[in-house]
Amino acid sequence: MSIKINKDKCMSCSKCYNVCPGSLIDQDDRRKAFIKYPQACWGCTACLKECAAGAIQYYLGADIGGKGGFLYTSDHGETLDWHIVSPEGKKHLIKLNKKESNRY
Ligand code: SF4
Ligand code: SF4
Repeated sequence: MSIKINKDKCMSCSKCYNVCPGSLIDQDDRRKAFIKYPQACWGCTACLKECAAGAIQYYLGADIGGKGGFLYTSDHGETLDWHIVSPEGKKHLIKLNKKESNRY
């Protein structure tokens, strides 16, 4: 598993940089985030949950579909939307209330 960060969407908020438990994310001179060690990412999704800009794509592992499928999040205040894009381009949306997110 790994992530990819779209610098064009990144708002330089530093949240992913601060939250990654493996310190795998760094920032360039404009504080745009990028992943330093993509192979070391173990897919905890902490950075995804923090990114209000939807700039981080999380690639799904082979054991859960893989083959280029990915997900990203969008922040809507009380809810965090999880957008899943299948390898064929089909989109699925899961809306989670942040206060209940530990149930999943
Ligand atoms: S959390 Fe998102 S917007 Fe903030 S620095 Fe990371 S990629 Fe950029
Ligand atoms: S998914 Fe977890 S381990 Fe991977 S870059 Fe994001 S915060 Fe770090």
